[in-house]
Amino acid sequence: MIVNALEKIMEELLDEYIDQFHMECTCPTCRNDVLALVLNRVQPRYVTSEDKITYVRAEFFDRQQMTSLLVSLAECARIVSENPRCDNRKA
Ligand SMILES: [Zn+2]
Repeated sequence: MIVNALEKIMEELLDEYIDQFHMECTCPTCRNDVLALVLNRVQPRYVTSEDKITYVRAEFFDRQQMTSLLVSLAECARIVSENPRCDNRKA
């Protein structure tokens, strides 16, 4: 299998910080929009097993690159929040 470790890491970060992003809407569509947007911006880290995601995650924590991931994530949350494409906010 080939998985982008960042996909999992970003998902976890979004779960953890979504309250702090104060998004207009946090439905599954908007959450996925945020994830897709941010994953297109950050360098992917492909690994060959779920186990290896743990190492990539640890690497990010060690290098304190989490902060820059969070900044990107917050930016994408803002963009989606301002232009939600789901059915909840078609005003
Ligand atoms: Zn939504």
